[in-house]
Amino acid sequence: MSTTFRLESRLPRVGTTIFTVMSKLAADLGAINLSQGFPDFDCDPALVDAVAKHMREGRNQYAPMQGVPALRQAIAAKYRLFHERRYDPDADVTVTSGGTEAIFDAVTCVAGPGDEVIVLEPCYDCYVPAIELSGATPVVVALKLPDYSVDWSALEAAVTPRTRVIVINTPHNPTGATMTRDDSERLKALVRGTDILIVSDEVYEHIIFDGAQHQSMARHQELAERSFIVGSFGKTYHVTGWKVGYVVAPSALSAELRKVHQFVTFSTNTPVQHALAEMMADPASLRALGPFYQAKRDLFLHLMEGSRFRPLPCRGSYFQLMDYSAITDESDADFAVRLTREFGVASIPTSPFLYESSAPRVLRFCFAKKEETLRAAAERLMRV
Ligand code: PMP
Repeated sequence: MSTTFRLESRLPRVGTTIFTVMSKLAADLGAINLSQGFPDFDCDPALVDAVAKHMREGRNQYAPMQGVPALRQAIAAKYRLFHERRYDPDADVTVTSGGTEAIFDAVTCVAGPGDEVIVLEPCYDCYVPAIELSGATPVVVALKLPDYSVDWSALEAAVTPRTRVIVINTPHNPTGATMTRDDSERLKALVRGTDILIVSDEVYEHIIFDGAQHQSMARHQELAERSFIVGSFGKTYHVTGWKVGYVVAPSALSAELRKVHQFVTFSTNTPVQHALAEMMADPASLRALGPFYQAKRDLFLHLMEGSRFRPLPCRGSYFQLMDYSAITDESDADFAVRLTREFGVASIPTSPFLYESSAPRVLRFCFAKKEETLRAAAERLMRV
């Protein structure tokens, strides 16, 4: 329907996301979809059974605004077990409708006009729109190539008296980079004595490889006390379509976050929360997730040996970056489309995750796929 009035966009630079574009292209062309980050295998059937049970038992009305108590208790218990940090399930834990809502709530509850919010690019695509809608100014600092490590001198130089929030993401999408213990120490030194807050996107917290320790903000009192830590059950239990996540943060921060959460969604799917609480009783599946995806990464890398793509280090997440500079000078977006059309494999360029830097010749491949999918994709990629 057409309109006769002028409408000024609050997000003039935002179009259709690259994930939608590439997944549609893959579907239209019948290509193997290694673009959008979701598993092509199913979750544990016990989880589906548990949701059905809770639905049948009548847990189908609004959950408490902050999340069902059993799930908040399970989340707090996880932080005690994995990071020796005590969060109060009543005051410090909030269940949200996915990590995306969590990030939006965290950014908008503390940032406003006149504030600066630092992001490290390439960065996940929901950060900057949340900052812009809050009225704050995004300040973009580039990660350091070739390994996408944090450029501490650039980050230190970007901090001003107006800096309100630094957004951290480890393990990192789209690069698979992870922060180290040394990075945590640098971050502590950077924020010490300031009012800077941290929004720490840790949705890939359990997908970390080669024996590394996930550097959650929760591991360090000095960082935990100023951090909103964001998690997502979609990544951890292979149910990205359920859109359930959470935030842990000290009570003063959680109280502000809940003011936004209660008017964005109010509360999150009730039977799913009860089922997830049951699954969390056994932390073995959380510990198994890193080795599970490491085996997929290693299979994909093995299958790609001898190809003209050069893998970059992948230390966590379920994304493998591949340098294609030996193949073509095309831009990453052009090559991603051609790869889908001519070779039948969809990937994601990193340019949509970049604001200021020019895109290197790399593509992101999601390896959260069945072995047969990875084999079929690699066979096609080997022909490039
Ligand atoms: N942060 C990152 C880095 C992600 O990759 C994603 C999902 N792709 C999210 C947040 C959003 O998580 P959810 O699907 O739970 O909203």
